[in-house]
Amino acid sequence: MCYTILCMILRERGDIVDINVGDVLVMKKNHPGCGSNRMKVLRVGADFKLMCMGCGHTFMTARSKCEKKIKSVIRDIAEEKG
Ligand SMILES: [Zn+2]
Repeated sequence: MCYTILCMILRERGDIVDINVGDVLVMKKNHPGCGSNRMKVLRVGADFKLMCMGCGHTFMTARSKCEKKIKSVIRDIAEEKG
């Protein structure tokens, strides 16, 4: 596992860094169903498709709405090298 937390970059300019498929979003609020606050990005666009890492529940959410709730982004650096 080679995860790096990119939260430093996140709010520097009041904006969210590019979110890519495969990133894990750490949300400010926990998922009510299971208590996990980590969501894996399955699809990006005007809407994000996210999967809760706790319970596997998938859902769509508007990008602008979702970005406000992101605390940090975890990206697998090893994956980018490959
Ligand atoms: Zn969940």
